[in-house]
Amino acid sequence: MDTESTIMITPSEVIEHIYCPRFTYFMNCLNIPQHEELRYKVLKGRELHERREKENREYLRKKIGCVDKEFSVYVASPIVRVRGIIDEVLTLPDGSMAPLDYKYTEFRDYFFETHKVQSVLYAMLIKETYHKPVVKGYICYARDGATVKEIIYKPEDFEYAKAVVDEILRVILRGYYPRKTRWPNKCIDCCYKNICV
Ligand code: SF4
Repeated sequence: MDTESTIMITPSEVIEHIYCPRFTYFMNCLNIPQHEELRYKVLKGRELHERREKENREYLRKKIGCVDKEFSVYVASPIVRVRGIIDEVLTLPDGSMAPLDYKYTEFRDYFFETHKVQSVLYAMLIKETYHKPVVKGYICYARDGATVKEIIYKPEDFEYAKAVVDEILRVILRGYYPRKTRWPNKCIDCCYKNICV
């Protein structure tokens, strides 16, 4: 059973927190789930995911130039305090490793920043698990016909990802009530808007 010192969060929880920190509070402290249709979208995304994963493997292997890859790798670290399944863990010709994550959307700058944080967390998990350098990662936007974005990680990327994880843990473990999203237009259709004060 998870205790305060072993609890680990998932990249999906990180993405929700970045979208709006209050989501973490309403879901974890008050146990109010989001609307079902969001879950439906996630499930549809997963189905598409599995199909595209098979279609794109060879194409991406050539494009990135990796020498080895593992699929759907479960990684967890009590140090990073994150657990998750990485779509692909690549070994690059220089011996370093890299996460490859599939997204079932079109590429958009706005979403890329959030996806980047997820990739950074995967990089931290790979380093912890394999004890190899991880200096870059890849995100494949499958709906664009497999657009692949390369991310070269910077020290501040790791600091930011760690700060987000720390804040989520503060909400879950201490009941800290976080700030609202900085973007009020997200509140218009939000399922929590009636209780979010
Ligand atoms: S109403 Fe706005 S601030 Fe509150 S949870 Fe929803 S998006 Fe976040």
